[in-house]
Amino acid sequence: MSAPVEDLRTHLAPIEDLKAAAAVLRWDQETYMPDGGAEARAQQLSTLQSTAHERFVADETGTLLDRAADAAPLDPDAALVRVTRRDYERAVRVPSSLVAELSKAKSQAQQAWTRARQHDDFSRFAPHLERLVDLSLEKAEAIGYADAPYDALLTAYEPGRTTAEVASLFDTLRDDLVPLVDAIGDAPPIDDSLLRGTYPQSDQRAFGRSVIADFGYDFDRGRQDVSTHPFTMSFAPNDVRLTTRYDEDNVASALFSTIHEAGHGLYEQGIDPSLARTPLGDGTALSTHESQARLWENHIGRSRPFWRHYLPALRDRFPSALGDAALEPFYRAINRVTPSLIRVEADEVTYHLHVMLRFELGRGLIDGTLSVNDLPERWNDAMDTYLGVVPETDANGVLQDVHWSQGAFGYFPTYTLGTLTAAQLMEAIQDDLPSLSEQVANGRFDPLLDWLRSHVHRHGRILTAPDLLERATGAELSADPWLRYAENKFGALYDLA
Ligand code: ZN
Repeated sequence: MSAPVEDLRTHLAPIEDLKAAAAVLRWDQETYMPDGGAEARAQQLSTLQSTAHERFVADETGTLLDRAADAAPLDPDAALVRVTRRDYERAVRVPSSLVAELSKAKSQAQQAWTRARQHDDFSRFAPHLERLVDLSLEKAEAIGYADAPYDALLTAYEPGRTTAEVASLFDTLRDDLVPLVDAIGDAPPIDDSLLRGTYPQSDQRAFGRSVIADFGYDFDRGRQDVSTHPFTMSFAPNDVRLTTRYDEDNVASALFSTIHEAGHGLYEQGIDPSLARTPLGDGTALSTHESQARLWENHIGRSRPFWRHYLPALRDRFPSALGDAALEPFYRAINRVTPSLIRVEADEVTYHLHVMLRFELGRGLIDGTLSVNDLPERWNDAMDTYLGVVPETDANGVLQDVHWSQGAFGYFPTYTLGTLTAAQLMEAIQDDLPSLSEQVANGRFDPLLDWLRSHVHRHGRILTAPDLLERATGAELSADPWLRYAENKFGALYDLA
């Protein structure tokens, strides 16, 4: 390895340590920290994050990048220089006064959002949201963009993709999705009442852990705890943690959330250890991350072969609730499609409509075609148009998601991009692994995990999401594989022509 790249690595490693330390504090905040710790924790996080930021935007980073540029013609050294340069140029363009203002506005907005949601009163949140929109626009102007300010915000999560591309993908998806949802709505509904019963948390926990251990999630390099909102956090490839939440009346909720988070966790545990303590040692884009979660959750966890293997064990674990559940009714129940108000509870078909609605409204806020005051009404109109259901309260409508209160404009589309990515990867996997269904039906996941390790996980941020997908599947991202998957699966489930 060349000395200039080595100098760059040495400079970046402690910055990554500071970011990982901040992540440990955030993990603790969501899992074990008593409420009383909130104020001190906010200060500790602010200190760690601003120290990491100052070190990163220092002139020294720029100098080291310049020196390393010519010295590193080959991957992964060249990737280190390329990705760090991208992060660096983005970071130095945003004035530190704006970073500080945004950080303060976000924490105030989150508190206001929590109260607004509790009291079902959007007006308590509105001025904070307006402020975040203004500051995010300022940030977009500082970063720069080719076409629209939303581009500058989207690329924080999706380097290499533009708003126009996302909009065009969503248009293609919508054209076939809306008729599919309508056809399902006209078909006799699936009865999913067999999922409800009494499922003790300890048994749910044991079952979920055994499933993801079978997938290859390594509990010697990870753990699972409980939090209000499930998430995955990585501090290093050898320390990747998951959380979940339990509903003792419904067996599906924690199980699929556990599988989903394990998909994220397997990605982080599979990143090449040599990329640790560098900016490359992370998932490449949110859509790629989400693709790993959705692939395990929907393509594997909600498939018939999977339940051919696991249903007997689930029945043994919960004999009184599920003792006589047969494969077919169970498979149908976990794949029921029904328009609903809450995104995080949506099925895999209508989920996209929740995302499209948020993409359109979020974009409108940023490009100035939608004012914050009109947001609740526009939300309800869009729910009616897309899903045919209208929330009776803003708490169950426009106030349901935390994202905008965190200033995370550009985040929502990554959920659908991830789902489309998962379906496209799955077609390539099925070509390469023609016996996948039998393997899954026998509880064997190592061929699938090996494929994901070599095509997706190990690369970290060396490849952008578009490059990674092109190499893994030979094509750029398209809505077609997901549409084929959905029309097949749900066409059969709902007996559609
Ligand atoms: Zn996810």
